[in-house]
Amino acid sequence: MSVFLFLAEHDRGVLDEAALGGLTHARRVASAAGASLHAALMGEEAEGLAGRLGEYGAEVTHLVRDGLLADYGPDAWAESLLGLARSLGAEAVLAAGTDRGNEVMAGVGARTGLAMVANCLEITPGADWLMTRVRWGGSLLERARLSAEMKLVTLAPHAVEAEVSAAPAAGETAVFEPGLSEEDTVTMVRERVTVEEGITLATAPVVVSGGRGVGGPEGFGILEELAGLLGGAVGCSRVVTNNGWRNHKFQVGQTGTVVAPELYVACGISGAIQHWVGMMNSKRVLAVNLDRDAPMVTKADWAVIADLHEVIPAVIAEITRRQSQARETT
Ligand code: FAD
Repeated sequence: MSVFLFLAEHDRGVLDEAALGGLTHARRVASAAGASLHAALMGEEAEGLAGRLGEYGAEVTHLVRDGLLADYGPDAWAESLLGLARSLGAEAVLAAGTDRGNEVMAGVGARTGLAMVANCLEITPGADWLMTRVRWGGSLLERARLSAEMKLVTLAPHAVEAEVSAAPAAGETAVFEPGLSEEDTVTMVRERVTVEEGITLATAPVVVSGGRGVGGPEGFGILEELAGLLGGAVGCSRVVTNNGWRNHKFQVGQTGTVVAPELYVACGISGAIQHWVGMMNSKRVLAVNLDRDAPMVTKADWAVIADLHEVIPAVIAEITRRQSQARETT
C-alpha cells in the first residue's frame, strides 16, 4: 500500500491551528487514493501530540528525533521530512499551506528537484494528480496537473474543517532519526522577542501610506510625521518594500496587510489592483498624486493633484498651526 506523509506543524509542542484541518484534508485524499496516511512530528517537544493525530486519521505518527530539532528551522525540518519520506517510499508528502508549511515543502522541493504545488483546495489523486489551487491571494483559482514520482503538496489552510476520523487510527508511533548536521541549522529559531506594539497598521484609524512617488526611504519622514499628528500608522506599496525602503510589515495589499481605517491617505501610490484590495474597505480615501488619471485618484473620495513633497509638509504645517491655536484658546 502506498504511503502519504503529512507534516503536522507545531510550535514548541503546540499544534498549529491549520494542522488538524490539513490532516483531515490529507486523510480524504489518501482515502480516495487507497493510500495509508502517516504523520511526522518534528522534535521531542511535540511527541505528546501523536494521540491527537491518530484521532484525526494518522495511521502511524513518526516522532522525528534529533538534538538539532530543538526549535523550528526550515532546513532542519525539510531535511528530516525528506529523509523520512524516502525511508517510507512515500508517494506523496503534504503539509498545511501555512508560512512554515510552504517554506519546509519548498525546501523538500529544492532538495529533490521536484515541483511543489502550494495551497491546493481540491485534489483528485491518480497516476497524475488533478488539483485546484489558490493563487494571487485568492483572486485566481488555478487547475493544475501534477506528475511526479513523489508528489509535494501544501493544502490551502481552512479549505477543510478539522474532523475526527470515523475510524480513528490506533495511534501507532515510530521513531525516526534523521541524523542532521550543523549545516542544516543555519537558519533556526533561537530566541523569541515580544514587541510591544502601539498602533498597528491593521487596526489604525488613519493610515498614511507611501508609494514609489515618495522617492526613497528618507521621504517617509513626512509621512511618519503626518501619521503621528493624526494618531495613525504608516503603510506603503510593494514597490517600496521591493526597493528596500521599508520593511514588508508596512506593506498594504494582497501580499501585505489588509487595512480598513476611517481614512487612508495614499501618497504617490498609483492604485494597482493588488494594492487596492488591501485598502478598499477604508471609509474614506485621500489620494495625493501627480497623475489625475491614476486609478487611486479616480477611485478616491478626495484627491490632490500635486507633488506630495509639497502637499504633505503643507498639511502638517496647517494641522500644527490649528493644534497650537486650539491650545492657546483653551
Ligand atoms: P507606481 O505604480 O509606480 O505608482 C507611483 C505613483 O506615484 C504614480 O501614480 C505617480 O503618478 C505617483 N507619483 C510619482 N511621484 C510623485 C510625487 N512626487 N507626488 C505625488 N505622486 C507622485 N502592490 C502593493 O502595493 N501591495 C501588494 O500587496 C502587492 N501585491 C502584489 C502581488 C502580485 C502577485 C503582484 C503581481 C503585484 C503585487 N503588487 C502589490 C504590485 C502592484 O501591482 C504595483 O506594482 C504596486 O502597487 C505599485 O506601487 P506604487 O503605486 O508605489 O508604484
